[in-house]
Amino acid sequence: MGGPPITGFSIRITTGEPQAGDAPTLTATGQAVAINVPAGGLHWSGWALTASAPIPSADGVTVVLAGELYHRDALRVAIGPSADGVNDDAELLLACWLRYGAPGLRLLDGRFAAVVTEGDTVVAATDHAGTVPLYVRHGQDGLAIATEAKALRHGGPSEPLPGTESVPGNTGVRRVRAGTAVAVVPSSGKASAIRTWLPPEHRIVLPEEEAVRRVYTVLDEAVRSRLDGGPVTVVLSGGIDSSSVAALTRQSGVETISLGTDAGDEFEAARTVADHIGTRHSEFRVGSEDLVRQLPWAVAAAEIIDADVLEYLLPLVVMYRLLPGAGRRILTGYGADIPLGGMHRATRRLDSLDTVISDDMNTFDGLNEMSPVLGCLAGHWTTHPYWDRSVLDVLTALEPGLKRRHGRDKWVLREAMRDLLPEATVSRPKLGIHEGSGTTSVWTSMLLDAGVAAADVPRAKRAMAIAIHDRVVGQAEPPADVSFDDVLRDVIASPSLAVVK
Ligand code: AMP
Ligand code: MG
Repeated sequence: MGGPPITGFSIRITTGEPQAGDAPTLTATGQAVAINVPAGGLHWSGWALTASAPIPSADGVTVVLAGELYHRDALRVAIGPSADGVNDDAELLLACWLRYGAPGLRLLDGRFAAVVTEGDTVVAATDHAGTVPLYVRHGQDGLAIATEAKALRHGGPSEPLPGTESVPGNTGVRRVRAGTAVAVVPSSGKASAIRTWLPPEHRIVLPEEEAVRRVYTVLDEAVRSRLDGGPVTVVLSGGIDSSSVAALTRQSGVETISLGTDAGDEFEAARTVADHIGTRHSEFRVGSEDLVRQLPWAVAAAEIIDADVLEYLLPLVVMYRLLPGAGRRILTGYGADIPLGGMHRATRRLDSLDTVISDDMNTFDGLNEMSPVLGCLAGHWTTHPYWDRSVLDVLTALEPGLKRRHGRDKWVLREAMRDLLPEATVSRPKLGIHEGSGTTSVWTSMLLDAGVAAADVPRAKRAMAIAIHDRVVGQAEPPADVSFDDVLRDVIASPSLAVVK
C-alpha cells in the first residue's frame, strides 16, 4: 500500500573478497547495514531511507531499486516464464536484466533509480525522465551512489563519469542523466554509459479523432498503472491536468486535496470537479508568508537552486507536509504542460510552440521537479501520470497543431477528457500553482518589504536558494533548522547580493 518498499538509497561500493553464503538483505532503516554480494567480489553497505526490503540477487546479479515500475503485465510477457508471478519490482528488474542485460533497462517504464552489480561492474540507472534523481561520487575512496546528493556530501570532488553531469553547490557529486545507465568497474576505473530513452523529436500527424482517442487511451492506462488497489489521493487544482487524472482514477474513495493561501486559491474550480466526479474533497488554507518560509524544505527535497522551479515545488511540499496521515499514494497532474506547451499559452505560432516544446523536453533534466523526496519528506509517495513514458512519447510527438487548435491551448487533452469533466473545467485557462497560491508574488513582496530593490528580486531569490542549498544539501542540515528570515537577512547584508549571478 502507499509507496514502494524502497524510496531512496545510499550505497558505497568497495572491491573486496566475496563473503559466500550471506544472503543480501537490507534489514534496517535509516542506518548503515552491510550488504554482502556473494558472487560479485563487491562489498556493499547501504541504507534505505524508508522501509526495509529484500535486495534480490541471482546468477551473480544484484539489484537495488528505489521506486516502482508500471505496465508490469506487458513487461512480464516480454521477459517470459522467469517473470511469471513476479510481483516485486526489484525482482522484475532482476528477471529483465537476466534476459536482456543492461539494454533491458530500455524496456522499463517506471519511476525509479536502480543500481545493478554483475561481476566486477556496477551500473547506476535512472528511469526515462530521471524522475528519481541519482547521484554518484567516484573517487579514491571508491564508488558511492545515492538518490540524494546530501547523502554523498563527504569526500573530494568526483571524477567525471560518462552519462553524468556536475550539480549545483559544493557537494562535488555528479548526477546521472535522465534516461541513462552508467556502468563503472571500480577496480579498473573503466566507465561507460548508454541512453535508455530520448525525448522524441519527430512529430506525428493524425486526424483529430484519432489523436484524441490516442491521448485518452494512453493517459487512462498510465493512471490505472499507478493505482495499487489501496487508497489514493489526487492533488487537485481544478485545472485540466489534475482534473483529468482525478477523473481517470475511477475508483471509489478517491480523496482530492486543494491548497490555497490568503493570497489566492482555486477552491471553486477544484470543488466543481470533485462534485462532478464524486471524490472525498478537502481544502487546506495556509498563510502565504508561512508557505514561503518553508522554502528550506523545498530546497532540501529538490536539491536545486533554480528559484523559478522552487516556486512551483514549494506549494506542493507545503501541501504534502500538511496532509493528515502518512504513507499516501499521491497522483498529480504535474508535467503535462511540458510536452503540450501549456506554459506557452500566449504562443500562437506553431513553429514557436514546437520549438519551445522541443527545448523544454531537452532541458528538464536536473530540475528535479518530480523528485520523490518532495513527498517522501512528509512520508508520502508521489507519481505523475503525464510523465509515464508512453504518455510522454505520445504527447511530445503529436504535431503542434493538435496542441494549439481552435484557439485553445492543450486542445487534444481537453478534447480527450470532454466526456468525463464539466465543460467549465474543459475550457478553463491554465493557472500555474505558483500563481494560484500567490507563492511567486508573496515571496517577491517579502523581499521588497525587506528592502530589496525591485530589479534585484530575481537575484535575491537565487541567492537565498544558494544559501539554503549550501546548508540543507552541502551540510545536510535539517530544513527545520534553517530559518528563511535569517537567510534573507544574511543575503541582504551580504555585499554579494550585488554580485550574485
Ligand atoms: P500547475 O502548476 O498548475 O500545472 O500544477 C501542477 C500540479 O500541481 C497540478 O496538476 C495539480 O496536481 C497540483 N496543483 C496545482 N495547484 C494546486 C492546488 N492549488 N491545490 C492542489 N493541487 C494543486
Ligand atoms: Mg494549475
